[in-house]
Amino acid sequence: MATNEDQKQTESGRHAEVGHKSLLQSDALFQYILETSVFPREHEAMKELREVTAKHPWNIMTTSADEGQFLSMLLKLINAKNTMEIGVYTGYSLLATALALPEDGKILAMDINKENYELGLPVIKKAGVDHKIDFREGPALPVLDELIKDEKNHGSYDFIFVDADKDNYLNYHKRLIDLVKVGGVIGYDNTLWNGSVVAPPDAPLRKYVRYYRDFVLELNKALAVDPRIEICMLPVGDGITICRRIK
Ligand code: SAM
Ligand code: CA
Repeated sequence: MATNEDQKQTESGRHAEVGHKSLLQSDALFQYILETSVFPREHEAMKELREVTAKHPWNIMTTSADEGQFLSMLLKLINAKNTMEIGVYTGYSLLATALALPEDGKILAMDINKENYELGLPVIKKAGVDHKIDFREGPALPVLDELIKDEKNHGSYDFIFVDADKDNYLNYHKRLIDLVKVGGVIGYDNTLWNGSVVAPPDAPLRKYVRYYRDFVLELNKALAVDPRIEICMLPVGDGITICRRIK
């Protein structure tokens, strides 16, 4: 049963709707993480890009600072060099990746919208990491189909971050599983979809949350039984499922 305390939290502190960048129980706890371990160590270019993005009307789409820090740590832990990103927006996760990779690291970055990428590009350039980025404007699927045609791209990616159209994640997975190397990692973002994956059927969800939820649920089910990968679903940001290719 909900206590008065729970009620108070729901009204004041709990994340009540889409837009919060964490699934934690309270904003205070999320702020604590940001202020204690994320912001004091955030690269100045990441901070600048976060501030540029905050002024953009679609800023809800950006990767959260704590997730950026997580991606950076993961990339370094696996010594990633050849990487891919599907869904760039203004480039916060892209910049986190570019900064984490070695000087000769590479990111094939795809987005249907170049304008938003160009908003962040001056900051990426100022950070001196734009030479690692190969940006392709347009839908990602045809690019993946092209890559697949060439045998030498198979098993060539150390890390792939997927943060785009959720209704295509399974289509991406079919292709990415061949492109990532055995032992490499694919990260599927937003796999907890604002917590809606456990919402009752009559829950008041925003239209787009409701629409994509079924695709996210389907993806999560498919990843859970895919014998080619090991998985770990983390409640970072809006949920990220880390998939390590094992065969
Ligand atoms: N990773 C980004 C960041 O850190 O700010 C956020 C990406 S945002 C959630 C999703 C992006 O996917 C949007 O910029 C959108 O234009 C892009 N997108 C949507 N459909 C796409 C497609 N078919 N191919 C490539 N990008 C797509
Ligand atoms: Ca995301």
